[in-house]
Amino acid sequence: MNKKVIEAQIAEFPICDYAFIQIQEIPFKEEVRHICRSECPRYGKSWSCPPAVGTVEECRERCQYYEGGFLFTTMAEVPDLEDMEGMLATRKDHEEVTREIEELFIHEGQEVLVLSTESCAICEHCTYPDAPCRFPDRMFPSLEGYGILVTGLAELCGITFLNGNNLVTWFSLLLYRESRV
Ligand code: SF4
Repeated sequence: MNKKVIEAQIAEFPICDYAFIQIQEIPFKEEVRHICRSECPRYGKSWSCPPAVGTVEECRERCQYYEGGFLFTTMAEVPDLEDMEGMLATRKDHEEVTREIEELFIHEGQEVLVLSTESCAICEHCTYPDAPCRFPDRMFPSLEGYGILVTGLAELCGITFLNGNNLVTWFSLLLYRESRV
């Protein structure tokens, strides 16, 4: 894939930081999965989260199918970082940017897997576990749900994740490989 073509178009998006990464650099950690299981209210509530996404090892193997990764962030200002609802409301814009970046890579002939921040929120009520996902082609599995230590990956890439007062940093990781279709 021609990274320069992608980079030339990135400037058109409200992206703060980005990095092309190697798949083997992604830090998969059982500890991250443990936090999902023990602390996250979304555990077992969505097709985008564990246990629906499979074990950490299965997630790692799924990621290894791809040739490279593109990690990127957007930022949003919120009046109060303690206000979880207000903070999550800013995520919608990040998801829209993520979808546009996905389309950009697909347009460049790539097959992609997109992981994004937090649990999928497309439907008001997720069908999990009673019926299949309503939008499997639009749903972004959770980065953390895959067992990925996002802060570790960001540090490795020199991407800042603590950007100061009242600023939320949202992450997505797009994995790509040349499409065989
Ligand atoms: S698209 Fe709907 S059914 Fe699928 S994971 Fe998201 S919320 Fe659940």
